[in-house]
Amino acid sequence: MHEYGITESLLSIVEQKAGEAGVEKVETIRIVIGVLTGFAPESIQFYFEPMSQNTVAEGAKLEFEELPVRLRCRACGTVFEPESRTWACPDCNSSEVDISGGRELYIKEMEVS
Ligand SMILES: [Zn+2]
Repeated sequence: MHEYGITESLLSIVEQKAGEAGVEKVETIRIVIGVLTGFAPESIQFYFEPMSQNTVAEGAKLEFEELPVRLRCRACGTVFEPESRTWACPDCNSSEVDISGGRELYIKEMEVS
């Protein structure tokens, strides 16, 4: 259900940017989603269709780019994509890590006509 609010936010950004640029129709919207956001692309798509009716984004195609979890080791600074749930550094085996990627959610590009 929390995709409803995020879809509203994305749509309002699209409308604002399209308005500023004087765009009449948005054809494609490319959205970057980090896996840690927990947002499901298909749910965003589901809410987007009815929500975008009678807006510049009506009928626009959504394309999603999913970003993996990336961690940075506090001990040695290595940035890595964890392969398991243990989140241990592959170089020094430390589990003192910071999340450096995977929480992204933004509009990367829009194609307009
Ligand atoms: Zn390390």
